[in-house]
Amino acid sequence: NRICVAIDGPAGAGKSTVAKLVARKLGLLYIDTGAMYRAVTLKALKQGLNLHEAGGLTNLARETTIKLVPGLQQSVLLDGEDVTEEIRSPEVTRHVSTVASVPGVREVLVERQRQMAYENGVVMDGRDIGTVVLPRANAKFFLTASAEERARRRAKELEDKGYTVDIDKLIKEIQDRDYTDSHRSVSPLVPAGDAIIIDSSGMNIEEVVDTIISWIEK
Ligand code: C5P
Repeated sequence: NRICVAIDGPAGAGKSTVAKLVARKLGLLYIDTGAMYRAVTLKALKQGLNLHEAGGLTNLARETTIKLVPGLQQSVLLDGEDVTEEIRSPEVTRHVSTVASVPGVREVLVERQRQMAYENGVVMDGRDIGTVVLPRANAKFFLTASAEERARRRAKELEDKGYTVDIDKLIKEIQDRDYTDSHRSVSPLVPAGDAIIIDSSGMNIEEVVDTIISWIEK
């Protein structure tokens, strides 16, 4: 009776904040799958790999250890090194969708994600959790919001971390990432047929969390 909850949706829809709170309320482990794609991307950039070379990226993913350390501020260890902050940099964000579109990279990471879910019971967030990673999840949610709203949220996050942001550029980047994520040939971003779709524009975090919990408890 390992409970698995899938939360998918586009960039900046608030998935990780919401998933973390839902996990805490239900006493489940929270897994941020985007962090895994980001960690592989960071390593590829550091090694100067060609991001259009699928074979090299797949090998890299295979030989990389990624550890997600549970906690209030979940930390991410890449081959033992703490990269929690670094994987959120604008550079990694710009390139992650390219790396995530490599089928071999996905195969490697999806396998690890399934293992974590079956061992623990989880709330897992990503793009393909309900469709590919955990098709038999107990509950599936697809969280979305308008691109403008998502860009505003991302801008606030980045500003809090000291980055200067150009909101129009951010909207454009979010739209580009949505496009790449929705049009790739493997595991495109689409809601699972049995997912509950929640448009969080105009909702606050607690409202979204409560909506999800009440569906799960039904
Ligand atoms: O969730 P986050 O914005 O950190 O994800 C970064 C990128 O990783 C996404 O834009 C997407 O390209 C990729 N990703 C994915 N599948 C997942 C999680 C993330 O392709 N399950």
